[in-house]
Amino acid sequence: MSKLICIDAGHGGNDSGAPGNGILEKNVTLKAVKRVGELLQKHGFKVIYTRISDNYVNLGERCRIANSNNADLFVSIHINSDDNLQASGTETLCYSKNRLAELIQKNLLSKLKLKDRGVKERKDLYVLNGTKMTAVLCELGFLSNKKEAEFIKTDKFLELSAEGIVLGICEYFGVKFKIENEIEKKTGGIMRKTIDVVIDGKKGFTEGYFIEGRNLFTADFIRCLGFDVGYKEKTKQVIISSK
Ligand SMILES: [Zn+2]
Repeated sequence: MSKLICIDAGHGGNDSGAPGNGILEKNVTLKAVKRVGELLQKHGFKVIYTRISDNYVNLGERCRIANSNNADLFVSIHINSDDNLQASGTETLCYSKNRLAELIQKNLLSKLKLKDRGVKERKDLYVLNGTKMTAVLCELGFLSNKKEAEFIKTDKFLELSAEGIVLGICEYFGVKFKIENEIEKKTGGIMRKTIDVVIDGKKGFTEGYFIEGRNLFTADFIRCLGFDVGYKEKTKQVIISSK
């Protein structure tokens, strides 16, 4: 029997959630749950949503949807905000520490590469104590942090967040995560992937192109521009430096 995952997009309708740097939390969470749902279905999971449009659903109703459908897991998605504009990073909240929270936090960190704020127990959150199944609430990043908000705006952020969450769920149930191969097949063997780069000691990332798993990073082109290009196997980083 395939497992049923209830995915909860935080806020909605009149409740915008946290605003920050021109973005509303409710819009990011809705886009994120849709991508998480797609990826889960590709991995054989059944999915129910607490909302699939910009409408207000109260917290009791969110729990009722998960409980009455006997969902196996409940995953709520939020974006954080704080008066301290420097606050940043990813955290996963749960009623009491559980393996799912640990696995989702671990995989979100490996994908998003934001600061690790850890797995935190929260007894006061309605959706965590009103749901009967294992439940987690992911705070992906901070809209109030200018730099993080720039990242949160991007499709890459949504994709990496969804991959992190689905990887965590797959690992929890022992399901093999296979989305990269599927994307390769769909695009005729070519796929885009994020590559970590270090340019003159400064960390960043860029998009690389891969054909059947082989990297087509345009090293020759970068050399033509007068830079040295190297690859650090251990950290899987492309190192670019001025001559
Ligand atoms: Zn929220």
